[in-house]
Amino acid sequence: MTNYRDFDPELWSAIDREADRQEHNIELIASENIASAGVRAAQGSVLTNKYAEGYPNKRYYGGTEYIDQVEQLAIDRVKELFGAEYANVQPHSGSQSNAAVYAALLEPGDHVLGLDLNAGGHLTHGSAVNFSGKTYQFHAYGLNDDERIDYDQVAALAAEYQPKLIVTGASAYSRFIDFDRFREIADSVGAYLMVDMAHIAGLVAAGVHPSPVGIADVVTSTTHKTLRGPRGGLILAKKELGKAINSAIFPGTQGGPLEHVIAGKATAFYEAMQPSFKVYGQQVVANAKAMADVFAQSDLVRVVSGGTDNHLFNLDLTKTGISGKKVQNILDSVHITTNKEAIPNEPRSPFVTSGIRIGTPAITTRGFKEADAKEVAELILQVLANPEDEATLASVEQSVLDLTSRFPLSGIEHAN
Ligand code: PLP
Repeated sequence: MTNYRDFDPELWSAIDREADRQEHNIELIASENIASAGVRAAQGSVLTNKYAEGYPNKRYYGGTEYIDQVEQLAIDRVKELFGAEYANVQPHSGSQSNAAVYAALLEPGDHVLGLDLNAGGHLTHGSAVNFSGKTYQFHAYGLNDDERIDYDQVAALAAEYQPKLIVTGASAYSRFIDFDRFREIADSVGAYLMVDMAHIAGLVAAGVHPSPVGIADVVTSTTHKTLRGPRGGLILAKKELGKAINSAIFPGTQGGPLEHVIAGKATAFYEAMQPSFKVYGQQVVANAKAMADVFAQSDLVRVVSGGTDNHLFNLDLTKTGISGKKVQNILDSVHITTNKEAIPNEPRSPFVTSGIRIGTPAITTRGFKEADAKEVAELILQVLANPEDEATLASVEQSVLDLTSRFPLSGIEHAN
């Protein structure tokens, strides 16, 4: 039989080059991580061959006895990991999780509150270009002068619009979210509370971020960010909402579940239950704080909100005069991967921006400690001080290659 690489060299050369890029780049995109060999093996397993519409012991297809075991393991593990009453592990992504929860709890046109995209919210929290903003009447809350969620504004909007649902959670917000305060506001108007913990799920699992489980009616998440699993989604909820959410996933918004991905999720949940994952979560936060401290001491940039409580922070690049887009490109050229990010009251378009977002989940998985994280921050500052200087860029590039070769991806052992 022909080897699959020989059969399709065009595709495999792109995959191999991506593997090489990951090996030699410093990955600072806050929503990315490095899944274990176990997660990837489960995801590449024969489970991809199987249709299993329905739920464990209630399938529309035969031959699902082992699939049922896999999905039930994932459900049991994630419930235990987060202390949840109910879990659905079938959402194909974070966006699908949110779509299903809205379908379960809302009617089109219902009023909902969500964090503004420009303040760090996600597209599915009511953006006008997303199904959420087109289907429901979302009202956006933002940040106060300290660049923290403006809870007073949330309360005022809740009183004004009497929303059926309040959504919180973020894609680019560096501070703890006060879930109790959100609960209080939701209760004051009889609204459901949904927390989208996609970014912080791994930190919650590690016990280094307050948990929304048990406070919110529904908690959604991705599985591939700080949680370090395969790309996908999950939903946790109070038991009484389980039936409606199950129906909203299947048959409401999805067909056959991706059981190979669910096996990857089961692996990741198991990894996250190990004592080593707690250490990982602590290190993610320590690395983010170490980097933010270096930037906070520089006159060139400003750390939005002054620091971080979690795995990420945003840098305001206004003083450099260079846009987020340009900085992202220059850093790419020296093998440092970041993404442009809007700053509060962003004057530029979302395609250009005046900031970048920096996150530590991937470098921490790789083994970086505070001293290494600080070195990375210093390298970024060198680039920002001399963005056009060839000698500076060459020297930073060499330092990046030295750092990445000290922490090879092949040396990573997650589960122990
Ligand atoms: N929710 C939040 C807070 C996110 O940051 C993201 C992804 O960036 C999502 C949901 C959507 O996840 P996905 O890309 O899997 O649809």
